[in-house]
Amino acid sequence: MTFEELELDETLCHAVAEMGYETPTSIQELVIPHAMDGRDILASAPTGTGKTAAFLLPACQFLLDYPRKQPGATRILILTPTRELALQVYEQAKSITKHTQLVCGVITGGINYGTDKETLSQNLDILVATPGRLLEHIEKETADCRDIECLILDEADRMLDMGFSSVVNQIATEARWRKQNLLFSATLEGAGVKAFAKDILNNPEVVEA
Ligand code: AMP
Repeated sequence: MTFEELELDETLCHAVAEMGYETPTSIQELVIPHAMDGRDILASAPTGTGKTAAFLLPACQFLLDYPRKQPGATRILILTPTRELALQVYEQAKSITKHTQLVCGVITGGINYGTDKETLSQNLDILVATPGRLLEHIEKETADCRDIECLILDEADRMLDMGFSSVVNQIATEARWRKQNLLFSATLEGAGVKAFAKDILNNPEVVEA
């Protein structure tokens, strides 16, 4: 299968070709069609399987299919357990959106609060964030989750291990108008991930890499 056969926009296909991706990985082939149908996804996909593009590509396709009518708050929110992962996802989001007008931003602990405010004032289409820092901004009303249409949880098992479940649930409550949720975890075993998935996802398509 090719990226074109997944019916992705040519700007996205062009970007992945430049990134050296020749064909979709198996998790990308499995996730992208369901995600583009608007389904919630519960995916078991360890690092190295191409999971990041598996959620970024359908999210970007959605933004291109339904452009915003006026400037506004973030539409796609990606939560990651660590700063390092947030920065990696952000870099990949920038590469994938290189030939589009989509605007990506990242906020994590460890980055200057003033820089965050500048980032959050940019009418971001895609925001990558660590949960603790984002919740601080929501509480101070410097971040607005009301326009979030798709919530993506990356490495959900690690987020749980790090004690983020209540923070993520609070953020999900703020993003209450969202239409879609994609949850990626190295493993789907364990009561924690199952309970988390039950709280966040609606009738998900379960996908294993
Ligand atoms: P991830 O599992 O998202 O951390 O991706 C692991 C590595 O695979 C990253 O370096 C990606 O840039 C790369 N990658 C993702 N999708 C593809 C693909 N379809 N073809 C080749 N490399 C890919």
